[in-house]
Amino acid sequence: MLINPSFLDVSVVEVDGKSVQFNVGDRVEPYGSPLTITLPSKATKGKTIDVEIKVATTEKCTALQWMTPAQTSNKKHPYMFSQCQAIHARSVFPCQDTPDVKSTFSFALRSPLPVLASGLPTGASDYQPPKKDGESGTMKYTFEQKVPMTVYLFAIASGDLACASIGPRSTVWSGPEELLACQRELDGEIEPFMKALESIVSPTYQWGQYNVLILPPSFPYGGMENPVWTYATPSIISGDKQNVDVIAHELSHSWSGNLVSAASWEHFWLNEGWTTYLERRIAAAIHGEAHRHFSAIIGWKALEQSIENYGADHPYTKLVLDLKGQDPDDAFSSIPYEKGFHALYQFELLLGKSKWDSFIPHYFDTFKFKSVDSYDFKSCLLEFFDKDAECKKKLEEFDWDKLFYAPGYPVKPEFDQTMVKSCYELADKWQALVAASSVSSTSSTFKPQASDIDGWVSNQSVVFLERLQSFASTFSPENVHTLGATYGYDKTQNIEVLSRYLNIGLMAKAKETYAPAAELLGKIGRMKFVRPMFRLLNEADRELAVKTFEANREFYHPICRQMVEKDLFGEEGK
Ligand SMILES: [Zn+2]
Repeated sequence: MLINPSFLDVSVVEVDGKSVQFNVGDRVEPYGSPLTITLPSKATKGKTIDVEIKVATTEKCTALQWMTPAQTSNKKHPYMFSQCQAIHARSVFPCQDTPDVKSTFSFALRSPLPVLASGLPTGASDYQPPKKDGESGTMKYTFEQKVPMTVYLFAIASGDLACASIGPRSTVWSGPEELLACQRELDGEIEPFMKALESIVSPTYQWGQYNVLILPPSFPYGGMENPVWTYATPSIISGDKQNVDVIAHELSHSWSGNLVSAASWEHFWLNEGWTTYLERRIAAAIHGEAHRHFSAIIGWKALEQSIENYGADHPYTKLVLDLKGQDPDDAFSSIPYEKGFHALYQFELLLGKSKWDSFIPHYFDTFKFKSVDSYDFKSCLLEFFDKDAECKKKLEEFDWDKLFYAPGYPVKPEFDQTMVKSCYELADKWQALVAASSVSSTSSTFKPQASDIDGWVSNQSVVFLERLQSFASTFSPENVHTLGATYGYDKTQNIEVLSRYLNIGLMAKAKETYAPAAELLGKIGRMKFVRPMFRLLNEADRELAVKTFEANREFYHPICRQMVEKDLFGEEGK
């Protein structure tokens, strides 16, 4: 019997209550060290054996972040949380760490502080007093996950946590000091998302509760769809409910990813493409169709950045990947999200919305509690429309090989431009202004004023700033200053806006943005912001980039630390 732990100390293995021989082999990157267990007698097919492994995590564990009191917001207690996707669960416990395997779970976790895990809570019991004076006693916190789930969804967190209600089946958890702001941001938001989703997919929500844990700022992702508790970055708490689309995304994962899971990381688009598609359907249901298109336009820009980053013929720009011997974290980008979205959206356009909508619940009902690959998706779609001559013909003529294996861009559909028009127009004026200020003989009549962006939602500033990024290197430092000061981008609390403004400054080599960029990199560990900003800071001022990384090395989550290290110092790290 062979399983794959990573950086674990295995001390005892028992099979059916008896100690047995085991061997931990040499480490193979990125998989870990194979644990071979010798069974005392041949196991017959269909017979269940009981295997118990005594194990301790080590300092090298890549899934757990242990924070000192000083690293938390109120600086009173230690804090720990896990992030197991993609292949880090094996550094917490030995397991078959592939999304192709699903299992139910019971958890019993002991801590002096409140504990959350990816199951429904069944209570806290069995208080044990402290062993020494000055230490705290512990409680045993128990959880049940009766819906079969893959191990990358295993999650745990413990710290000085408080909770508040945000809906009939939802609570938000955070540090006590942040709780009120978190509750205000999310109160009443979940249930409309849930209703919108349940009218598109099937079956109804299966996980009992939908709670949100707002993590400390070093959390490396926007959100992680751990069942029962979504883990989310504090950067969504912006005070204006403008970034709660992250929650719409994570909630959608309750179906795409958690209920129906991609069988391997090579088919990751089935998780993220479907989820991005559903997240945008929620936007359409709640705010109107123009918002769905607006979100897709923002997504297209993210797709462009990822494809430019890898190069348009890079194998990681394919929808279906070949990850043999490779770490799935290295292939992580916007591509499975956005190219995946377009894979599904093009079927909506090809078949017509009402026919496509009749397929969506069928797909989720067919594969609930299972893991699927791209070929399962294809055959499910073909079978569903087998008796519909018109759709059948369209699907037979469809170029599936191109969809699955062609690198680079998908076909770009026509987007509704309602919400981006004013953003593009203002960007054009800026382009003329920047061009004029670099050539002294010409002049631009455009004078930027705060009222240029009156009535915009903050994501319109995001689109405007991304448009400016295409010619940001031609900005003079004065142009950058005017941009920040006129529209308040240099002082905004909304990190989506602030980070894009600072990135323009770095591209333009405007020195006034270097220190604020370095400061932001010490306040947030979300990779979406950290990685591009480090790359740009490195190009603008390598010494400051390296210094900033070294100063914040312990602040970053191990996954983020490893990625930035590769970005700054190359494949081998430092
Ligand atoms: Zn996702």
